[in-house]
Amino acid sequence: MSRFLDKKLSSLESYLPGEQPEGRRVVKLNTNENPFAPSPAVVDAITKEEVQKLSLYPDPVARELSESIAAYYGIRREQILTGNGSDELLAFCFHGLCPNGAAFSDLTYGFYPVYCQMFGVKERIVKLREDFRLAIEDYMDLKETIFIANPNAPTGLNVEVEAIEKLLKRDPDRLVIIDEAYVDFGGTSCIPLIDRYDNLLVIQTFSKSRQLAGMRLAFAAGSEELITALAKMKFSFNPYSVNRLALLAGKAAIEDEAYFLKTTRAVIETREWMKRELEGYGCEVLPSKANFLFVRPPVPAQDVFMRCKEEDVFVRYFPGERTGEWLRISVGTREDAQRLLEVLDKIFEEGSHA
Ligand SMILES: *Cc1c(COP(=O)(O)O)cnc(C)c1O
Repeated sequence: MSRFLDKKLSSLESYLPGEQPEGRRVVKLNTNENPFAPSPAVVDAITKEEVQKLSLYPDPVARELSESIAAYYGIRREQILTGNGSDELLAFCFHGLCPNGAAFSDLTYGFYPVYCQMFGVKERIVKLREDFRLAIEDYMDLKETIFIANPNAPTGLNVEVEAIEKLLKRDPDRLVIIDEAYVDFGGTSCIPLIDRYDNLLVIQTFSKSRQLAGMRLAFAAGSEELITALAKMKFSFNPYSVNRLALLAGKAAIEDEAYFLKTTRAVIETREWMKRELEGYGCEVLPSKANFLFVRPPVPAQDVFMRCKEEDVFVRYFPGERTGEWLRISVGTREDAQRLLEVLDKIFEEGSHA
């Protein structure tokens, strides 16, 4: 490591993104991307004229996009802040909204512990129950800012809004941050609660359900005071983090509700079909409300992971005591799922003859 790197960062273990294979055509079920292209309205919004305007800075307050998002959720523009992916907004949360530390589960989005290290925030890890369920009782009396990915990754399990509301009521002086990256695939959003609870912040992304992972766009929804606090950090770091094309793409995507509904429904249908098929192969599959499945195959997961890769089917494997027997498999198109099942069929056959 360079001797110029600040000592306080020398032990930082950065986030490890899923592989992005270059060139080759593979069945890519390892990073929970949406298998569909962005809405045609998004494609139409990025015109030659708009590209020519890239010599100008984007609107730093994302006025039009924020208005569209606010209209979609029936809230006010002042209750929204846009960011360069949820990752940027989460960074602000860990950096500036965790004066008493941060609490989150042992199996959740891998970026949370990275941000704690990066910003020197004290972390409290709360173990999920044996069945991977998040028990809200375990969080009731914590003093730290609480982060809940809902639905959770990599499990896909969902916590009911009623349970989160109990947590909000329990201590109005404790902030609860709900990361709703996967909520559109069958979960229920907490956004309608932001008017009643000023200790709630909800973060959503355009990466998963709106097909814009490559655009880097997300938003936070919360009380005007919380949004002002986040904006203070954004405007002390990079006021222009949401670029001109992202502003246009996001507005077009949120306004094309028909396409959004069509594509999220297709993902949900494929997910449920895939789950039944995998169970037919003797896999244990958690009930998912996300665009991926958490699957325990009947033969060692790491072997399945590596064999799949040899067959150009990429899934995600997280080594470790609790996850080592499991695979996280994104829900792609029906054809992707079919190819996965073919490959698994072959692998399980080999396994039974070994
Ligand atoms: C994908 C994901 C994100 C990151 O989303 P971006 O908006 O692409 O940065 C945040 N939280 C969870 C739980 C995710 O799975």
